[in-house]
Amino acid sequence: MEKNFSGKNTTAIHGGQHPDPVYGAVMIPIYQTSTFAFKSAEDGAEIFSGKKSGFIYTRLGNPTTVALEDCVAQLEGGYKSLATSTGMAAVTTVYLSLLSAGDHMISTDAVYGPSRVVMEKDLSRFNIESTYVDTSNVENIKKAIRPNTKLLYVETPANPTLKLTDIKACAEICKENGMKLVVDNTFASPILQSPFKLGADIIIHSMTKYLNGHSDVVAGIIVTKNEEDYKNIKHMLTYLGGTIDPHQAWLVLRGIKSLGLRVERACSNAKKIAEFLESHPKVDIVFYPGLKSFPQYELAKKQMKDFGSMISFIVKGGLEAGRKLMNSVKLATLAVSLGGIETLIQHPASMTHSSVPKEEREKAGISDGLVRISVGCEDVDDLIEDLENALSEI
Ligand SMILES: *Cc1c(COP(=O)(O)O)cnc(C)c1O
Repeated sequence: MEKNFSGKNTTAIHGGQHPDPVYGAVMIPIYQTSTFAFKSAEDGAEIFSGKKSGFIYTRLGNPTTVALEDCVAQLEGGYKSLATSTGMAAVTTVYLSLLSAGDHMISTDAVYGPSRVVMEKDLSRFNIESTYVDTSNVENIKKAIRPNTKLLYVETPANPTLKLTDIKACAEICKENGMKLVVDNTFASPILQSPFKLGADIIIHSMTKYLNGHSDVVAGIIVTKNEEDYKNIKHMLTYLGGTIDPHQAWLVLRGIKSLGLRVERACSNAKKIAEFLESHPKVDIVFYPGLKSFPQYELAKKQMKDFGSMISFIVKGGLEAGRKLMNSVKLATLAVSLGGIETLIQHPASMTHSSVPKEEREKAGISDGLVRISVGCEDVDDLIEDLENALSEI
């Protein structure tokens, strides 16, 4: 990690990457190997003892993976990072590294579903306690702190209403109470939000989303700010075994090169689409941090460089209208996930959250007419035309 660039586009393209020392390949090769040969018994002994740097076995480290890890660590302004097989491997590895039996964690009520389920259904069996609150109001966090609270785990913007959490205010609370602050930065990407600058201790990404950006890989990453956290989490990751495969790492490394361009284009498209939707007679409310009507518009301007490419909106006419819209779009693809180069649309009440009782759904801000779009990089006029035609079918 000898070079550090100040610009995020430069970092995304060059960070952590060097021409191949053997043949000079400009792109980092895929070191598709499980194990690495030692030059001699003495060489092996030195690498094992840590006296000499080198690779031993891919679960413990691989040159393709390290290039990706260095690239993302530089993008987030961190110390080092650890790439994982999925975003959830990153989440669970962080939980298990930082929490022990008897500890308590506070988190965002609207956090990514599985991040909450694994805590409440599984880690609770190991006597790890958790409380979920609306972290968009930091007073709720303060009230939930117990003597055994070790961790605050927030996601901002959060799904599906894009509520924001003030990272800087959270960092202050954590400092005062001896807690660590983990931020799931997936919805913002390193281009739009820098949690370390606001005082976070650890950053998580599902690289499945913006970082890879092409809806063809699942992967995750944990970015640390100091050697102690890095060593602690690396131990847990290599023993739990949720490490990334070199080919998967290489695909993300390729996707990440266009991260800045993709995010810039997607944000600009999203802003125009949010404005179009807000003025449409068949739309009730639009949730987009870049709209002046968004309750936390000021925090969005302060905390984020741009407003992202996720939009949620409520169509008039509830469940039926939402369903009709899903069946009428022709360009936007009906699918979950986000942050890809193509526009995806989904209707939680009839899709992801259809098994959740209506009352519970509404408590989580998911009304029957709520639709979520992950805006991609297509021509914005085509996207607006598609939505306009689909809305006219309702
Ligand atoms: C998708 C997602 C995850 C989980 O990532 P996977 O790659 O699907 O395991 C975690 N957090 C957020 C915010 C996500 O959107």
